[in-house]
Amino acid sequence: MAGAAVLGRLTWLVTEVASTTEETPRVRTLLLDAEGWSNHRAGQHLDVRLTSEDGYQAQRSYSIASAPGELLAITVERLEDGEVSSYLVDEAREGDEFEVRGPIGGYFVWDGADPSPLLLIGGGSGVVPLMAMIRHRAASGSSTPVRLLYSSRTLEDVIYREELDRLQTQPGFEVFHTLTRSQPEGWTGYSRRIDAEILREVAWPAAETPQVFVCGSTRFVDTAADGLVALGYEPESIRTERFGATGS
Ligand SMILES: Cc1cc2nc3c(=O)[nH]c(=O)nc-3n(C[C@H](O)[C@H](O)[C@H](O)COP(=O)(O)OP(=O)(O)OC[C@H]3O[C@@H](n4cnc5c(N)ncnc54)[C@H](O)[C@@H]3O)c2cc1C
Repeated sequence: MAGAAVLGRLTWLVTEVASTTEETPRVRTLLLDAEGWSNHRAGQHLDVRLTSEDGYQAQRSYSIASAPGELLAITVERLEDGEVSSYLVDEAREGDEFEVRGPIGGYFVWDGADPSPLLLIGGGSGVVPLMAMIRHRAASGSSTPVRLLYSSRTLEDVIYREELDRLQTQPGFEVFHTLTRSQPEGWTGYSRRIDAEILREVAWPAAETPQVFVCGSTRFVDTAADGLVALGYEPESIRTERFGATGS
């Protein structure tokens, strides 16, 4: 299975929930123990398949949150009335089983070989595949300069907050938060949806040819990508992944 890229060749594997961690009131990380799982690349995703007792099946994609070589982790945001996310966030317990297949994707990945700066732009749970890249950089001792521009509704909604704060002490890694709905007293980050001015302040000049990964809702991704193109970025240099219709 190693390196399998063709979806048709991937088989469903039974995975057991090894542990769960509450990241925010609406977001949970699940560590998964999937026997037979092949190693993934930072940025890839997997498919989850849930089967109910009467045989009804539901299938969704989730980005892999862990660095390559680390225990498989997904981080899921509960959506109102969400069929699969409500189960994964509210109900799945240690020892529960469901099926996964993957790793999937060869476009939205960062292996760390290219030393050019890495610009990561995430909205809400769109930070998940970007976190796999950030963790990969930290674990591999890479000195690639990284800037993460991360949009959340409130401070309480910031996923991986403590880890990001900790990693910010590493040379070459910078995080820029924007909180779109409310901000705590004394907040010094941005306080609005990502716009041209924020992008101009955070992004490297296009001439430095950064690698760019943008992930989030469709609207979020389009705004960020259009803004970067307006700053002179080549559209081909911007890799995007869209999670759904709405979002931060
Ligand atoms: C490549 C890829 C990677 C993804 N990675 C992640 C991840 O790491 N973490 C994560 O939490 N989600 C991720 N998603 C989204 C995930 O696949 C599901 O769409 C999401 O969990 C909702 O599924 P659900 O069954 O709970 O909701 P559904 O029952 O399918 O939908 C419930 C309601 O929410 C709306 N909706 C569906 N999806 C979204 C969405 N993404 N945003 C806003 N509204 C939506 C629907 O229109 C509907 O009104 C990813 C999607 C893709 C395509």
